Amino acid sequence: MSRVSLERLEASFRAVSAIGALPGGGCERLAFSAEERAAHAEFRRQAEKAGMTVRVDPIGNSFARLEPTSGPAAGGPEGSFPEPARFDEAAILTGSHLDTVARGGCFDGAAGVLCSLEAVIALAEAQRSGEIRLRRPVVVVAWANEEGARFAPAMMGSAVYAGVLSLEEALAATDRSGVSVAEALAEAEGEAIVGERPSYPGAQGPGHSRPRKSVSTDSMRPPAAYLELHIEQGVELEEAGVPVAVVEGVQAQIAGDWEIRGRSAHAGATPMHRRADALVAAAELVSAAERIAGDQEPGVATVGSLAVEPGSRNSVPGAVKGSVDLRHPDQPSVAAMEEMFIQSGRRAAAWHRCTFSFTELWRAPRVSFNPDLLNTLEAAAQTVGISGTRLFSAAGHDAVHIARVTPTAMLFVPSIAGVSHHPEEQTPMEALMAGAQVLEAALLQLAVDK
Ligand SMILES: [Zn+2]
Repeated sequence: MSRVSLERLEASFRAVSAIGALPGGGCERLAFSAEERAAHAEFRRQAEKAGMTVRVDPIGNSFARLEPTSGPAAGGPEGSFPEPARFDEAAILTGSHLDTVARGGCFDGAAGVLCSLEAVIALAEAQRSGEIRLRRPVVVVAWANEEGARFAPAMMGSAVYAGVLSLEEALAATDRSGVSVAEALAEAEGEAIVGERPSYPGAQGPGHSRPRKSVSTDSMRPPAAYLELHIEQGVELEEAGVPVAVVEGVQAQIAGDWEIRGRSAHAGATPMHRRADALVAAAELVSAAERIAGDQEPGVATVGSLAVEPGSRNSVPGAVKGSVDLRHPDQPSVAAMEEMFIQSGRRAAAWHRCTFSFTELWRAPRVSFNPDLLNTLEAAAQTVGISGTRLFSAAGHDAVHIARVTPTAMLFVPSIAGVSHHPEEQTPMEALMAGAQVLEAALLQLAVDK
């Protein structure tokens, strides 16, 4: 029987949504700002109130741990803080992030952290009453800087955790005004991290208490599994009338920059047949991108930015620089889309006496989540009376990094009208409640077994 409480879940959302609340709705908690750190502190406060042990790691990820029934599994004298390297060893990890984009919503990220927390609080209650016996610790995580809106790269906290990005590199990243992550974190978090100094062996005293080494897989055994609930940020669930779906993986993605070079000329004195108008060629390429995606369903292609030179009313455009973002659930299909895009660029440029160049910026391979965990989530959904809808994520999430170090799977809850990264972003409370119940059932299955 589920012990997830709607009242507690609502109160938890109210408390976190009030932090960085925008007038008229929505939330703004940029990574490593006072607001984002306050949301992390509120998360830890709620977890501690429920009897969990909390910790912040050197990049600002917050963890809250529920011990298994047999008591602290991570060694050390009774009541002492678990060694950081063992804090989530072989635990079942679940969570998401608490930062938002500028003028964002209150559900992207927070939904996953707070539904996870509610699910684990429910397990803690069941454990206290003797109803269940957990064999593994369960840890809720709030990753730092998922959005990358202030400091690049996005998904920074989970990247450092997974060893994809070094702690040094992450702390050295700067925002537009030249403030580094290390400075922002120290200012916003202050003594909160330093205060947990006992958790870091080899700490060098106040102000230097953050070890300059990555909390990666070489310093600890990774958690046994990671589950992340996230808002869909699309319309599939709402259209299907489904409150929770199992996410099979994340689409493959290719990002590139391109340039068409023609010849700038006088808008009055240059006859049409003598022009090399880069923007006319670019317009054809933008249309081609839409056709390419249409031919490769369910692929998507976006030209999201264009810069026209010289950009003057009375000059024929001499050059256009643009971006392209291509995504598809299948790796070969996204590569085929890139090839078609390049061919279209060359053709459009040649037809208009221009030249075309393309630079691939990066490829994010398709991520397939762990099949056993997908089945666990599907079975958990069925115990809550939800049939197992499966879909692919169009966006990257922290789970992509964590999938490199431990078996991982995701759940989606609906986004009303698909709105996200906007103050009007909404997920119905009933869906969040269902999501927390599915997590509770799945975590129980994973933490009790073996
Ligand atoms: Zn998110």
